[in-house]
Amino acid sequence: MKYSIPLLLLLLTCLTVKGQEHTEEVRLCSIELKESEKTQEAELPSVIAFSGHPIIEGMVYKIMNMLVLPMNFKLEEDYNIIAASSRYNPTKRTHYIYFNPRALGYLDTSEERHETLSILAHEIGHHLSLHHNFIDTYTKCKKKKDENACGKCHTFELEADRFTGYMMHKMNISLKEAQSAYTQLSFNYDDSKKTHPKLEKRLMAVKEGYNISANAYANIPKTAEHYYNKARFMMMEMMQDQDVLTKENKKVLEDNYLTPISLLFEKAYELNPNFDDAMVENGMVYALLNNYEKAIKVMGNAIELEPNNAEYYKMRGFYCSEIGNVDQGLKDFRKSMELNLGGTQTGKYLIALKGIMVE
Ligand SMILES: [Zn+2]
Repeated sequence: MKYSIPLLLLLLTCLTVKGQEHTEEVRLCSIELKESEKTQEAELPSVIAFSGHPIIEGMVYKIMNMLVLPMNFKLEEDYNIIAASSRYNPTKRTHYIYFNPRALGYLDTSEERHETLSILAHEIGHHLSLHHNFIDTYTKCKKKKDENACGKCHTFELEADRFTGYMMHKMNISLKEAQSAYTQLSFNYDDSKKTHPKLEKRLMAVKEGYNISANAYANIPKTAEHYYNKARFMMMEMMQDQDVLTKENKKVLEDNYLTPISLLFEKAYELNPNFDDAMVENGMVYALLNNYEKAIKVMGNAIELEPNNAEYYKMRGFYCSEIGNVDQGLKDFRKSMELNLGGTQTGKYLIALKGIMVE
């Protein structure tokens, strides 16, 4: 998490009616600040806000596009809510997604803004599930603390959460990131009289949706691309797992990431022997595992497929130099330069390697 303010003090509220009751605008599912926290929210530095519309529109479009559906939502900014809310105006027959640019900017932990994306997916999930038809249930829970009604609200919220998990997996986003906004916003309170279920139920729902997407292809024969993409996805997860990217956790890094990733790449070019991209990437993984012999071998196979690729020779040359195979290293660097005169930094490697020879 980039920033820390007591967001756990947020009160999750849902479903308010704006303007004339039930005829004007129905606001479904907003996550709002407690009255006492509003000042604090207003004081968040503006630098963490992002100018809303183009980015948010792009994200909503991305989700709808993946569903092969048009983007017919209207987007509006609202600085009185934290995160976002889905609303329906029956008079205008318009579905809205309201969002608080400042709060979303706070929640995001990376430039990709996966937290914002997950929140938008949740709101879209409400719209597509027609949850605004159940405004009375939300009102009953909120105003009368009717536990039965609150239970139904939880069902709706978890439906939207499952949708979030499902879409996040579809977008190749890790489960941890899919759940990140939830862990920042929610907590395990007594939810019996609340419209929103407690954190653990919501995290579970996101996970369920995530796994539904992950297992959707379980029985479909796997292609080389499937293994390649899975390996790349794991690499992305590895880069985000700062805990293992330390010297102390070398073994965990190897066991949890590098070795399984390497096996996936191997599987990809086993299925498609012309898959040089998978070979080259596995070469890098082998190098990270300090298995330079294997890295050199796999680069040899890639070079057979792409004999005029200067980059491939350069990479093999580098691996050779790492284990003192100077002859092959020099040959590869020279070949790389021949193929790519004036380009790349191969010359530097060549000079460095010559230096090693002189020593
Ligand atoms: Zn909701």
